Amino acid sequence: MKGTVFYLVSGHGGPDPGAMGKIGKNILCEDEYAYDITLRFGRELLRHGAKVYFIVRDPHDGIRNEQYLQSSTDEVCYPAEEIPLNQVKRLKQRVDAINNLYRSEPIPTYKRCIELHVDARETKKNIDIFFYYHPGSRPGERLASTMRNAIERKYQLKQPGRGYNGDVSTRALYMLEKTLPSAVFIELGNINHFRDQQRLIYENNRQALAKWLCNGVIEDFKKSN
Ligand SMILES: [Zn+2]
Repeated sequence: MKGTVFYLVSGHGGPDPGAMGKIGKNILCEDEYAYDITLRFGRELLRHGAKVYFIVRDPHDGIRNEQYLQSSTDEVCYPAEEIPLNQVKRLKQRVDAINNLYRSEPIPTYKRCIELHVDARETKKNIDIFFYYHPGSRPGERLASTMRNAIERKYQLKQPGRGYNGDVSTRALYMLEKTLPSAVFIELGNINHFRDQQRLIYENNRQALAKWLCNGVIEDFKKSN
């Protein structure tokens, strides 16, 4: 992956914890789980020689192995900007950080922005990992589809008979539209659903997920050559 550049964004953070789930007395905050999986995902990419920028950063939290990740509000936006509460300002701050980094390295190479979320859903159903790309972005579509298919194959291998319904679709999200690098937005599950929570709370599951995501990216990178 030498020469590739990734801008990884974990959803929410700072004053915005994102969606919240509950297990007993424990509150699960979306931003903390998205952050932990993003760090693990970035570490896998680094191990493969990629250059990785973590756009949302917590100066105090690294990769954590606990089941219940403590919520904090001290996350900042790259390099060390306070995150505003206002959603439009928050997203613009991220886009600016990514686009400045993108422009600062004019070498034409494989550069991608990947954003991870674990939102809550109104439905009582569990949600398989699914993907959005911006309408009309062919690199975004290819990356999303390749990552999706890599995950499907992993499930077939590790949990035969489970099935996998995660899909790929377009959505005109601000972060997908405004970022200069081609971008993919990933939903890792429903933070309110018991089954999806298992994917999040166990560190070995978070780690497996990070590896699967990385495998998909590597496959897409190979297609780009
Ligand atoms: Zn979210």
